[in-house]
Amino acid sequence: MSDSQNTPDILIVGSGIMGAATARLLREADPTARILMIDGAPVVGNVPGLHLHDSTEPAIWERYNQRVSSGIQGMYTGADVTPDITDELRSVEPGMYNLSALGENAAAMPASALSWNVGGMGVHWTGATPWPAGDETFDFGDPEQWQADLGKAREVLGVHPAVLGPTVPGQQVLDVLDELFGASSAADRHPQAMPMAVQPGASGPLPRTGPSRIFPPIAEGGDAAFELRAGTLAIAVLHDGGRARGARVRDIASGEEYDIEASVTIVCADVMRTPQLLFASGIRPEALGRYLNEHAFVTSRVLMDLERFGLTLDELPRALEGEFATDSLWLPQNGSAQPFHGQIMNSVYVDDDDRALAYSVGVSLYTPVESRASNRLAFSPTETDVTGMPRITVEFEYTDTDLALIEQAADTIELVARRFGAFDPETESAVLAPGSSLHQTGTVRMGAVDDGTSVCDPDGRVWGFDGLYLAGNGVIPTPVVGNATLTGVITAVRAARAVVRLRVSAA
Ligand SMILES: Cc1cc2nc3c(=O)[nH]c(=O)nc-3n(C[C@H](O)[C@H](O)[C@H](O)COP(=O)(O)OP(=O)(O)OC[C@H]3O[C@@H](n4cnc5c(N)ncnc54)[C@H](O)[C@@H]3O)c2cc1C
Repeated sequence: MSDSQNTPDILIVGSGIMGAATARLLREADPTARILMIDGAPVVGNVPGLHLHDSTEPAIWERYNQRVSSGIQGMYTGADVTPDITDELRSVEPGMYNLSALGENAAAMPASALSWNVGGMGVHWTGATPWPAGDETFDFGDPEQWQADLGKAREVLGVHPAVLGPTVPGQQVLDVLDELFGASSAADRHPQAMPMAVQPGASGPLPRTGPSRIFPPIAEGGDAAFELRAGTLAIAVLHDGGRARGARVRDIASGEEYDIEASVTIVCADVMRTPQLLFASGIRPEALGRYLNEHAFVTSRVLMDLERFGLTLDELPRALEGEFATDSLWLPQNGSAQPFHGQIMNSVYVDDDDRALAYSVGVSLYTPVESRASNRLAFSPTETDVTGMPRITVEFEYTDTDLALIEQAADTIELVARRFGAFDPETESAVLAPGSSLHQTGTVRMGAVDDGTSVCDPDGRVWGFDGLYLAGNGVIPTPVVGNATLTGVITAVRAARAVVRLRVSAA
């Protein structure tokens, strides 16, 4: 599609994982649909949408690896809240920024962060893709379709069941977890290796699934009916109150504004900026921004007492080349009997001569948080953020039930960690600040009926609007305990299918 073309069939706002998944599924179903994908942010490095772990540019690769080595996504953005952006938007470096740095009021969720780069968080993410179960699911009475959509989401993300480990000590960690939690585990949800959107291999570095792996034309072009247009911010959805017809956009470099006319617009602009764009467009259903949810995050690290496990330093494994963890393991949530999702990232500490010093077990427990309308993003009708969009204020509090579960998670972490070695909860564990998980959900959630508690229908179509669809974690209506992205991709699968049906019926 030529650069000057502003009348695609389908406009996708956002080039992250959700935008890429939607584009891929649309293209698979319809080889000729003219798709324009816009993203407000610039490209990182030379290859749009490429996961930074897979970059061949040394500065990018090193910076990524230095930031990711804590194994905790909230610390990837930075241990301290990133400073406010004061440069002109066109000069801002691509990367991750705390919400507050973009001029939002995020005091209630201080660690929350957004990407400002093509490919969104999908060029930074770890790729842990546990599947949702129990209260996390939203099958709207059709469990078979749910399973099919989950399968498609896994395929799109390239999920593999066991990528990093279990190594010998990793298996011993799983055995301990199974002793403690096996009795309350469903048959397929015992402690196990973490499913990952990472290509397995005997030697590293292991390729990550980023947006350009999901939909290669983002990086490579080669699809005459697809264009990625970076540096192009959607500032409003164009509509007449009942039908969307594209978006008003701003070219970040020149400040020029113009219209893109499309018969279908799919907004994949993440949990914060999808409702922000709808608000800016005067589309303000009661549930917009509400039901903001994020599991709480309790984390710890303990050095394994090797003697207790019959191991010696010489027997410890090494991480594959280009990987920081030897094992990425999973303790699945199993409902009220075992409400916590455990993400376990282990590594071997070595000296300068590659002699093993210790096996470190990093256990994080994600704790469910009740879904409530009062936890929300509020948008200012008068103030704007650094991008010129309505300023966001986060309103978020834990209930007494949430706080009791967080305390229980801290106790459970202590119980688990002491099984592996000497552990001081004061110095070796922490409850992280809200926002740390980057797994927020719910702000544009889907629902079965238009009763004021949802923004869109089960296909992601905004209630009361033709031609306007949403996909991403914000669309998830349930409180998700695990890593949210695989579940979020299910909403992209549904939106893409609905758009394909719409186009077939209109043809
Ligand atoms: C370090 C790190 C580790 C993570 N690890 C995991 C993990 O292991 N497992 C997991 O499940 N999740 C993980 N996540 C979270 C995961 O990356 C996100 O859930 C996922 O990438 C969200 O995808 P998205 O496409 O919805 O949003 P984003 O990735 O945020 O993409 C949205 C895109 O929309 C663009 N945009 C926004 N507004 C506009 C507008 N108005 N106009 C034009 N463009 C716009 C943005 O620039 C951005 O590129 C991690 C995240 C990080 C940062």
